[in-house]
Amino acid sequence: MNWLSNFVRPKIRALVGEKKDIPDNLWEKCPGCSAMLFRRELEDNLNVCRSCGHHLKLSPVKRLESLFDDGAYSAVEVPKVIVDPLKFRDQK
Ligand SMILES: [Zn+2]
Repeated sequence: MNWLSNFVRPKIRALVGEKKDIPDNLWEKCPGCSAMLFRRELEDNLNVCRSCGHHLKLSPVKRLESLFDDGAYSAVEVPKVIVDPLKFRDQK
């Protein structure tokens, strides 16, 4: 039990108030050159770092939207996998 974190900090936060209007993920750190990249500019550049050219991760939905014209694509239903296709039974 820390007196500062359990008692003083909530009181100060209640007095000052939480700032909810600033999102947490505005910036992203490049794993290649450790530069701080503004997320909106990074998404405009297809998640490629402008300073070193490192390709950051891209979600599957964003990848498909970038590959197809106007982001128009349809997912194909994959048939379900058979649970035990060999029906193998051991002798013992
Ligand atoms: Zn970089």
